[in-house]
Amino acid sequence: MFGVFQRTTMLRTALRHLSKSPPPPVHSQMQFLARGPCLQSVSLSHKLHVGADGSRSSPAAAPHRLPFSRITEEDLALFREILPGRVITDPDLLQSSNEDWLKSVRGSSEVLLRPQTTQEVAKILSYCNSRNLAVNPQGGNTGLVGGSVPVYDEIILSTSLMNNILSFDNISGILTCQAGCVLENLSLYLEERDYMMPLDLGAKGSCHIGGNVATNAGGLRLLRYGSLHGTVLGLEVVSGSFKSAGINSLRRRRKDIFFSFSADCPFYIVIETSGSDSDHDSQKLHNFLEEAMTSSLVTDGTIATEDSKIKALWSMRERVTEALTHDGFTYKYDISLPVERIYQLVTDMRQHLGNRARSVVGYGHVGDGNLHLNITSPAKDPALLASIEPFVYEWTAKFHGSISAEHGLGLKKRNYIYYSKSRSAVELMGDIKMLLDPRGILNPYKTLPDHLK
Ligand SMILES: Cc1cc2nc3c(=O)[nH]c(=O)nc-3n(C[C@H](O)[C@H](O)[C@H](O)COP(=O)(O)OP(=O)(O)OC[C@H]3O[C@@H](n4cnc5c(N)ncnc54)[C@H](O)[C@@H]3O)c2cc1C
Repeated sequence: MFGVFQRTTMLRTALRHLSKSPPPPVHSQMQFLARGPCLQSVSLSHKLHVGADGSRSSPAAAPHRLPFSRITEEDLALFREILPGRVITDPDLLQSSNEDWLKSVRGSSEVLLRPQTTQEVAKILSYCNSRNLAVNPQGGNTGLVGGSVPVYDEIILSTSLMNNILSFDNISGILTCQAGCVLENLSLYLEERDYMMPLDLGAKGSCHIGGNVATNAGGLRLLRYGSLHGTVLGLEVVSGSFKSAGINSLRRRRKDIFFSFSADCPFYIVIETSGSDSDHDSQKLHNFLEEAMTSSLVTDGTIATEDSKIKALWSMRERVTEALTHDGFTYKYDISLPVERIYQLVTDMRQHLGNRARSVVGYGHVGDGNLHLNITSPAKDPALLASIEPFVYEWTAKFHGSISAEHGLGLKKRNYIYYSKSRSAVELMGDIKMLLDPRGILNPYKTLPDHLK
């Protein structure tokens, strides 16, 4: 399938580097209260975190619990005072927040906090720091690397009630909103005003803009509009979580064209173009398609101009992630590679695994050099995992790729960081984390390798 959308906007094109740095520690700590008195611990049961492969031997498995305090009745009372009616301790309600979207990792937090304002977040984090209580900020919980859920009993700090759009300036295109705004809601809001978000991704109906910024999500428009961080004009940071983000939106004066193959092809491509002069853009697109068809580079396709058709065609691409969850347990890799190598990893992996895997599937963002490699099996299979890793990382390092293209490192990839980053770069990341979060209470066990915790 080969699809082309053309969008006419006022903005420039921006290209992206092939390999994206892993996300920095996403939480900053501005100011902390001193440690409080030692409180009596509530007796709680703590289930062991289930690692990506269900075994303790893998570098992706959870490390041992760090010596954070346990939640007490006094802590809960204080949280209830700060957030009346918004402290969740019902295990049934907590279940979905303890488990990630892929259902591949699960924590055992017994407290979910739902602040609505910056002040509330600040009070909670100051208190947690003083008590040495670990905190896991959570947006839409669509992350794919185990970063969004607790590993043990970390307090879940959800931004789901911080979902207000604070302002929109239709001259500059600047949108200011709270961290918990769902990406799709922001898109719809802007579309009504003839603007668009510079970011789009398959999880848009659930993910929050705060989570997008924390992971520096790539998505479907990265090649055209560049890294999300480049369009974020400012953040209001509160000891690691933030309330509002100023996002530069794009003016939406568009003409959409889609081109899709119906034949059974080895590759299916969707292209969306964007420019400032619709006549000129149409001409360029026409020339491109003519050349591609004449040279037999493409064999079939369609062009879409209506919004509904464009959305339907995009949804086929956006729902690949979901479709794979129906093929069994999925080992997921998010790799960036020089574009000429992008599919070679899929074919080499197929050959390497033979019939040990059910499917080896590759899709992604070809313009960004970003490959989503998915290997499925009927169930979790430690022997299969041992055949995939470290092969996949060694292969990627050999061809100068990055082991994390856009999903980040989270829990699952933290100990593989040296395949892509030098020791000195990782040490620097550790120093920055230490500076901003000296007690390491913010999303522990994630991003940095275990020896830096
Ligand atoms: C179907 C599907 C398609 C996807 N497609 C893409 C894609 O194209 N490109 C891509 O990059 N990703 C993609 N993802 C992954 C995921 O959607 C993104 O990483 C997204 O940005 C996560 O946002 P979230 O709100 O769900 O964050 P969560 O999953 O809740 O959290 C992710 C991380 O951000 C931290 N965090 C969340 N909110 C805050 C905050 N306010 N302050 C500080 N830290 C915070 C969390 O602690 C965690 O470490 C996809 C996921 C799915 C399920």
